[in-house]
Amino acid sequence: MNIKQTDKKYIAGTYGRFDLALVKGKGSLVYDENGKEYIDLGTGIAVNIFGVGDDEWKKAVEAQLDAIPHASNLYFTEPCARLAEMLCEKTGMSKVFFGNSGAEANECAIKAARKWGLVNKGEGYSTIITLKNSFHGRTVTTLAATGQDGYHTDFGPFTEGFVYADAHDAADVERLADENKCCAVMMEPVQGEGGVYPLSKEFVSLVLAIAKEKNLLVITDEVQTGNGRTGELYAYMNYGFRPDIFTTAKGLGGGLPIGACVFGEKTADILTPGSHGSTFGGNPAACAGACSILSRIDTALLDGVKKKSEYIISQLKNAKGVEDISGMGLMLGIKPVRPKAEIIEECMQNGVLVLGAKEKIRLLPALNIPDDLLAKGIEVLKEALAKC
Ligand SMILES: *Cc1c(COP(=O)(O)O)cnc(C)c1O
Repeated sequence: MNIKQTDKKYIAGTYGRFDLALVKGKGSLVYDENGKEYIDLGTGIAVNIFGVGDDEWKKAVEAQLDAIPHASNLYFTEPCARLAEMLCEKTGMSKVFFGNSGAEANECAIKAARKWGLVNKGEGYSTIITLKNSFHGRTVTTLAATGQDGYHTDFGPFTEGFVYADAHDAADVERLADENKCCAVMMEPVQGEGGVYPLSKEFVSLVLAIAKEKNLLVITDEVQTGNGRTGELYAYMNYGFRPDIFTTAKGLGGGLPIGACVFGEKTADILTPGSHGSTFGGNPAACAGACSILSRIDTALLDGVKKKSEYIISQLKNAKGVEDISGMGLMLGIKPVRPKAEIIEECMQNGVLVLGAKEKIRLLPALNIPDDLLAKGIEVLKEALAKC
């Protein structure tokens, strides 16, 4: 059997894969089993932020594989301490918990927020306000946190204690805060899986005021928006505030699994010995790679992200077959006139990989994608969009 047949026979049927098997890649180019080349505008869903197999990242990981690839959290290891230090120094936050995925990072934030509610507000102050159309992960609790009915079937009973506010209506947040014993409000600055919708600055500033008045923690889910993706190191920085907790994953590892829950002053000491853990969390090889990634997300790179973003928007804004563009930085959603599936398929045939999100085409290219490859990729997308 070939790769595709074996996969179909033995892999649990949770993924609707495209008819494409990738065998290698470098930077923003990936190759299938027949040697066909593709320009990658999806980066493994915002993971390969410096492209596939970035040299510096690879060197850092390889050096750590030679030193000690895994040790357990019973002992100190250098890469996770260095990575946590760098995360805190670059954000003004205080402490970090490492897991292996976005869902795990969010689970940690949810546990910490509930314990904070118990300690600071009293028994029962455990409800977390999340937003409609959000996405927070696939575990039973992060599915419950996800504000989309479609995710709340088949696997119940789900974790209690989540209420969902309209992402355009701060009055709804206030109402839910009054009606429930709440500890926190949790939001993606740009709703990714929900269709690449940035929260408005006005909505965010009203939510911050409500959180302050009602003594609620503010949690941002930066799993997709984090690590330079939106043109700032973390997307909350576009809104001019600092959350009490933020979570991140995807791009932080540059291609290896890692998730981080990052605590500000108010929440830094909420989790105590034995209250949380993860066998692989803070894995030295993943953290060594992440240190290499995070250390290179600097002003010059972020300026590049903004320029590339402007380029894409200028190319597609008034292009034929485009109804609308939304997003921030190199996290962009294009609403096509044609069904998105046809466009994704046609781009793939013409050697360009793009993603979908709800009814949109979603672009998440490498933050350092060379301008000529980006231009070529956008040209192919433009042609596919125009056939409507
Ligand atoms: C991808 C994503 C998650 C889940 O991350 P996993 O690593 O798949 O568990 C959570 N929140 C947001 C905003 C995401 O984009």
